[in-house]
Amino acid sequence: MRIALVEPGRTVRRIVTGIIEPWGHNVCAFTDAPQALACLEAQSDIRALITSAELTTTSGIELVKEARRLASAQRPLYIILMSASAERSKMVEALDNGADDFMSKPPALEELRARLRAADRITSMQAELIAVATTDFLTGLLTRRAFVSNVEKMLSKASPDDPVSILICDLDHFKSINDRHGHEVGDLVLRKVGDELKLAGGPAGRLGGEELAVAIERNLDDAVGLAERLRQSVMSLVIRAGNEVIGVTCSIGVAQWQPGDTVDTLLRRADISLYEAKHAGRNRVVAAKVFPLSSDRGEWRGVARLSDRRTG
Ligand code: GH3
Ligand code: MG
Ligand code: MG
Repeated sequence: MRIALVEPGRTVRRIVTGIIEPWGHNVCAFTDAPQALACLEAQSDIRALITSAELTTTSGIELVKEARRLASAQRPLYIILMSASAERSKMVEALDNGADDFMSKPPALEELRARLRAADRITSMQAELIAVATTDFLTGLLTRRAFVSNVEKMLSKASPDDPVSILICDLDHFKSINDRHGHEVGDLVLRKVGDELKLAGGPAGRLGGEELAVAIERNLDDAVGLAERLRQSVMSLVIRAGNEVIGVTCSIGVAQWQPGDTVDTLLRRADISLYEAKHAGRNRVVAAKVFPLSSDRGEWRGVARLSDRRTG
């Protein structure tokens, strides 16, 4: 398990690191909270934080609070506050601020070892639950909820200079693939198409049924180029059902984030383009164009003209 240790005293830091590492853990040791927080933010594989209650620039309790906020429900993080004081009120405060455990400083060897076993057990279970909740069991793509949450994070950093685009890909006449070849072959087709989406270089999810999506940090033109390549690679898939090779095609709607867009409005615009692609005959890419609704307010919004971008 990777552990962040925050302890201002060099001797205690060395002793604790020296004890823990031979147990098979990997310790990143820090003297103060800011470096530890930066490391926790950058390295999502850190599963435990052991912090001293007595720090230099801030209190250990503050660090606990910040670390808990950072981990939220998205990531397993077991937090242990270590204090030279045995005050019960401090222990209660630590637990109430997001700590999972409390330990005296310097820690007793066997106690520390047992607490880390508990941390490993609990965070492993949490990691498994998070994986189950965020991964679509059939395709290995993100679930709809996890996809939306990933895109929300991308949109929070989006700007006209840092574009984000979204592609929604729906298999054409998928029902008839199921009807003709059976549900298992349908499942195989979904997995193969899902594998193509995973290559797109952004979070990819299954929105439901045979509707898949991917988000990328690119403008509309690049996204349309990617969608076109995706459409062609789906069409080139060789999937056999008995002696027959099944022809699979998909339609793709593409939309670029505009100021004011939420994940919902962005998905809706891509979905309208997808509908248009279906309506125009399937096996094609349609991009949602936007134009300023009230240019005097500098506001760009909404659904607009749809341009058929079919090529090849
Ligand atoms: P269109 O070109 O208009 O998209 O037609 P379609 O047949 O693809 O769309 P429709 O919505 O009529 O049918 C979707 C089908 O997808 C129906 C449903 O049984 C099938 N489906 C949804 N989820 C799964 C799944 O997990 N596995 C399999 N094999 N089929 C699924
Ligand atoms: Mg379909
Ligand atoms: Mg559909």
